[in-house]
Amino acid sequence: MIKRRRTRQILVDSVGVGGDAPIPVQSMTNTHTNDIEATVEQIHELEALKCQIIRVAVPDINTVKCLSEIKKRINIPLVADIHFGHNLAIEAIKQGVDKIRINPGNMKKKDKLEEIVRLAKNKGIPIRIGVNSGSIRSNNGHDVDLVELMVNTTLRYCEHFESLGFKDIVISLKASDVQKTMEAYRSVAKQCDYPLHLGITAAGSPNDAIIKSAIGIGGLLSEGIGDTLRVSFTGPPHQEIEAGYKILVALGLSESTDAEIISCPTCGRCEIDLLHIVEEVKRRLPSQKRSVQIAVMGCIVNGPGEAMEADIGIAGGKGVGFLFKKGEKIKKVSESEMVSTLLEEIKTI
Ligand code: SF4
Repeated sequence: MIKRRRTRQILVDSVGVGGDAPIPVQSMTNTHTNDIEATVEQIHELEALKCQIIRVAVPDINTVKCLSEIKKRINIPLVADIHFGHNLAIEAIKQGVDKIRINPGNMKKKDKLEEIVRLAKNKGIPIRIGVNSGSIRSNNGHDVDLVELMVNTTLRYCEHFESLGFKDIVISLKASDVQKTMEAYRSVAKQCDYPLHLGITAAGSPNDAIIKSAIGIGGLLSEGIGDTLRVSFTGPPHQEIEAGYKILVALGLSESTDAEIISCPTCGRCEIDLLHIVEEVKRRLPSQKRSVQIAVMGCIVNGPGEAMEADIGIAGGKGVGFLFKKGEKIKKVSESEMVSTLLEEIKTI
């Protein structure tokens, strides 16, 4: 069992981040935020997928004015993502967002930055200090120890906020380089007790991003580091949520909301269309049976063992399969009947 790092807890509206709170999965819309209808629709889709916190980009003053309307029409906490514009951050807080994400390095006027912090404190909302490697590099040139600079810069921002009596801070330190990201999070985790938002920035297309995130986010979580996460992809955000949950479930940090299907990779011994069977079972599985463990195995080499361990399983033979339920072999079925027989039997569990 993973022993999570102890952090202080902050609240994003009613969602806890850090402390003993479960790890919330978040995402970010890719609509133009000032298209309120499209943004709200996408947030509702993400809510249905169990997104727990949603962030929207706030690039200009017209957009910031849409935030209160979006907030009214959604059911999960709303975070405003702001770069450069002090006034955007101030107005976003006034519009009632539940958290803001800023990179203080992009906000050069100290008095204005302090105004943001004081206002967030008055309204009782947290701030994510989100430092990305790109901003550090562009401000300091290439001949720097990126990890050390990211961490030291972030801790300096934290100290500044603390000097104003503000501690509702979440930290993120994202780089597109997985190892640098992990080093940065490990280092900051040792030096403060603020909750950490995990992510690999600019991770690429879904295929690439899932692998980078599984290693980076999953690796940190397996060490007990990390209190909320976003898997970011180039493309629509829906798949990000599924990927985030899959990482948490694989580490035992969240209950599975999906059936666990154990299937073998197949090899030259397999004499049934295993992929088709797996996909059909997954597609047709009744939603109330999603916590069942199902084994779909290609042959009798490893098949019976896995099938007996699962709630229900099938081990393929030559055009047939042997059905196992709760550890007992119960019958032999033809390949064409496998999917329907499995689904019928699953209903009885
Ligand atoms: S269970 Fe059988 S078919 Fe599947 S990978 Fe193992 S040996 Fe090959």
